[in-house]
Amino acid sequence: MKALQGEIEQRGRRIFELVDKHPEPLFSKAGFYQRLMALSMRDERFKVQLFRFVDVLPSLRRSGEIVGHLNEYFSDDGFGPLVDAGVRLARIVPWVSGPILRWNVSGMARQFIAGKNPDDVIATLRKRRAQKIGFTVDLLGEAVVSEADAHEYAARYSDLLEKLARETKIWTDPLGKNSELFPVVNLSVKISALYSQMNPADPADAIAHLAPKLRVLLRRAREVGAFINFDMESYAHKNTTLELFKSIFAEAEFKDWPHAGIVIQAYLRDSEADLRDLIDWGRKRGTRFAVRLVKGAYWDYETTKSLQNGWDCPVYFQKPESDANFEMLTRVLLENESIVTAAFGSHNVRSIAHAQAFADELGIDASRFEFQLLYGMAGPIKRALVEMGYRVREYCPVGELLPGMAYLVRRLLENTSNEGFLRAKFAENVSANELLRDPRELIKPDGANPAPLASAVTMQDQDRKNYASLDSAPSDVYRNSPLVNFVYKDSQDKMRSALREVRKRFGEKYPLVIGGEKVWTDELTPSVNPSVPDEIVGYGSEAGIAEAERAVKAAREAFDKWSRTPVEERARLLERAADIMERRRYELSAVEVFEVGKPWNEADADIREAIDFCRFYAQQMRRLGRPKLTQRVPGEDSYHHYWPRGVAFVIAPWNFPMAILCGMASAGVVTGNTVIMKPSEQSIVCGAMLMQVFEEAGVPPGVLNFLSGHGSVIGAHLVDHKDVDLIAFTGSREVGLKIWESAGITRPGQRELKRVICEMGGKNAIIVDSDADVGEAIGYSIYSAFGFQGQKCSALSRLILLEENYDRVMERLIPAAASLRVGNPEESGIMVGPVIDEAAYRRILDYIEIGKSEATLAYQAKDLPPKGYFIPPTIFTDVKPNMRIAREEIFGPVLSVLKVRDLDEALEVANGTDYALTGGFISRSPDNIERVKAQLEAGNVYINRSCTGAIVGRHPFGGFKMSGSGTKAGGEDYLLNFLIPRVVTENTTRHGFAPEQTPEYRDEFLWPKPQ
Ligand SMILES: Cc1cc2nc3c(=O)[nH]c(=O)nc-3n(C[C@H](O)[C@H](O)[C@H](O)COP(=O)(O)OP(=O)(O)OC[C@H]3O[C@@H](n4cnc5c(N)ncnc54)[C@H](O)[C@@H]3O)c2cc1C
Repeated sequence: MKALQGEIEQRGRRIFELVDKHPEPLFSKAGFYQRLMALSMRDERFKVQLFRFVDVLPSLRRSGEIVGHLNEYFSDDGFGPLVDAGVRLARIVPWVSGPILRWNVSGMARQFIAGKNPDDVIATLRKRRAQKIGFTVDLLGEAVVSEADAHEYAARYSDLLEKLARETKIWTDPLGKNSELFPVVNLSVKISALYSQMNPADPADAIAHLAPKLRVLLRRAREVGAFINFDMESYAHKNTTLELFKSIFAEAEFKDWPHAGIVIQAYLRDSEADLRDLIDWGRKRGTRFAVRLVKGAYWDYETTKSLQNGWDCPVYFQKPESDANFEMLTRVLLENESIVTAAFGSHNVRSIAHAQAFADELGIDASRFEFQLLYGMAGPIKRALVEMGYRVREYCPVGELLPGMAYLVRRLLENTSNEGFLRAKFAENVSANELLRDPRELIKPDGANPAPLASAVTMQDQDRKNYASLDSAPSDVYRNSPLVNFVYKDSQDKMRSALREVRKRFGEKYPLVIGGEKVWTDELTPSVNPSVPDEIVGYGSEAGIAEAERAVKAAREAFDKWSRTPVEERARLLERAADIMERRRYELSAVEVFEVGKPWNEADADIREAIDFCRFYAQQMRRLGRPKLTQRVPGEDSYHHYWPRGVAFVIAPWNFPMAILCGMASAGVVTGNTVIMKPSEQSIVCGAMLMQVFEEAGVPPGVLNFLSGHGSVIGAHLVDHKDVDLIAFTGSREVGLKIWESAGITRPGQRELKRVICEMGGKNAIIVDSDADVGEAIGYSIYSAFGFQGQKCSALSRLILLEENYDRVMERLIPAAASLRVGNPEESGIMVGPVIDEAAYRRILDYIEIGKSEATLAYQAKDLPPKGYFIPPTIFTDVKPNMRIAREEIFGPVLSVLKVRDLDEALEVANGTDYALTGGFISRSPDNIERVKAQLEAGNVYINRSCTGAIVGRHPFGGFKMSGSGTKAGGEDYLLNFLIPRVVTENTTRHGFAPEQTPEYRDEFLWPKPQ
């Protein structure tokens, strides 16, 4: 290994010598962007603002808008005299500055984009040919949100292929050796550009859609003697891309074709396994193929996404780990040179020199592998490699400025990254010795986690163990249960197996549970599968008034003891329930798929939320449960603490059948109340499952009672009951308002004023600003409106578009809706399933009829499954704020689009309903974002994301106006609704003697004292 290190250093030094012969700064063109990049590398804040400005610029049409944004991004932040002067000047002469700015930023983009279109790029490729540099061409494009976009993309790839083949017919290999391995025409294809509905949970569906499009391209590539490379994108698509590659190139037609390649990303922890698997596959196939080894372009995205979802991060956390892995994979590739042709995609001289030295050690001729580098980057390194006699291919993106900006921003990030090789070498002049060090020596043994993850873990552990962070907001220290990541085959298999198992239990009967006893009644309520209504998922015993009375009695009797049970014991009960749900996670998700028609990921998110409610409320109750000193004064102790209210009646809806029921019930139980929980009539089996979970967790008899039955019978009876002290309701406005009213009447013998926690519906809006990224706006809107069939109370039902953006959004919104996968959610990857039952089905269809009479039906899906309560995703345009479809809650996959003049009108329309639950805003204007944050009337305001998917602790959820009583489920003040505050004051002086020490927290006031 030592000898190899010597060789690497020697080769590295040689490259540096050659590079230094033609010195060139990091950015090869002088002027405007060099100064900006220098500033970006000095000032992280400036870098963020600059990249955001660059991102929004192409979508700004008028000079005034450009200067307006410049002002918003760069004024008042003290970025130095140069920037300040530029902003001031732009304000004075916007009509001059706007175009100049655009021109300069376009120049930056042109530095990395080889041409606007295929014709344009040929000129660039010719120049490179003269320098003995080959090419692979990649098509830039906007995010593919529909099948129409995907078809257009496929057509552009074909066109590109034809033009390149025609124009380069007489071009020959620059090295003139082993040229059969390296066709001149080389096309890099992004799989996600060819199918808009890729879902990591369903690789088979993606392959079924992608393969036919690819076959056309591959066939033609083969005919014209071109090479096709599958680029690698985010981790979510990795397994599908690998599977697709292996399956399509094993087909008889392509089995013996050697001109196919794929990318392996060395920053991935599982990259070695993938590479070895590919090599085994290649050997079995018996034909050469190629691998481009890169480190990977989505490091920030992968780490952020994993941290947000609580997933194991697929990428290494330390840069030298990726470098070292790149070298290890280099060796694997070269050792298998007999079957795989290697391309090393790196600008890092150490990585390159290592590949050269190792190839030499194995005696592999330099013409049998290649180095690939990006267009517009590391020019001197390319030149040096050519001079050394290596094969060099340049990766040349082709496309328009608008989609090019995302690419430009990625390149700028790469060039200015603190960790990057290019910055170290060309901007910071780090010594050759440093740059050529073995990366393995640089790996820090303790550098395993990025900081935010590490701190979250330690704080939570601390909190659990010793109350050390009693005063920190629980949302800061709580770490959510991870979502199941369906990218893994193992998760997909577990879900499929759970679906099979749950199906075997169809038709089972579930009892009521009262005072710890299972109670069967004569009446049984069937719960049907809305996708296939003749399938009965289970039957629930139906409670009548007698059972309701029995439940109140049991809850009342259990209250005395439970209310005096130490907080720690109550908290542990919830944590045990959470652990059981974690253990039964797939099974519980499967029940939801069948009983309420939730797609896989939505069902899993619901179980995750239920688990989070238990753990989060347990954590919070520990904080709230200990009496806290009100003020530190000598001679007097005043402790503020809480008592439970009494018997809580929990009424839950079917749309989050575990999470909402569990959230309200667990809050009631952990606060020391006793609870009667009534699931929705449509989700009895889910309710029964939750009861089972709590029974297994050891809930004492009477503390939690399970009462399924008709809301109009037992619901109304219990709401009015004198012995019910608290009602926690989530459901429709109609029922909610009745409860609110009834609970206000004091009945004879009633002890407490009833407390009502009332969460009702919404008529949620997303406003799309004129500068919004259209692809993103559509992605978020489609998911918010049609995910789980629009049956979330947070779902989008009014899309408010500023007129300037209206046509651009509508042009792509409708094809995006038309591309959605509607079907039975038992199948993975379905986004739109059935609505809950026949009544909902009829009501929504009625609303669609109302919509047709009021507005314009712009889109309605066809081809729905023949059985089941499937409503076609529907979009209305020309909707006015006073129309019924714009005011009334529909609770189904129906979206109204409203066109407005400007943001003033948008806010007026958004706020002009009875509801205030969720609201969203898609914009890249910092000022507009600030304004919307301040003025949008919604309990949960979401900026630049979907308006659904609240996470416990992170997004405490609940609205006001007619959406609810202003409570926040999953928030740090939620439990207070279940509690009565109390203060106990003791004069601690005795004959003038006062103790000095008064602890901030003391033990609970419990008598008799717990043993
Ligand atoms: C021709 C070509 C084609 C490419 N195709 C693809 C592709 O299809 N898919 C793809 O994903 N990438 C692709 N890339 C790679 C990517 O775009 C970057 O160019 C590449 O990762 C930069 O690596 P480097 O060796 O040049 O630079 P270096 O500066 O040595 O490495 C930078 C890289 O290290 C990794 N890194 C940074 N910080 C950390 C950290 N804290 N912990 C762990 N790792 C870290 C990241 O991958 C980062 O990009 C391609 C690159 C080239 C040159």
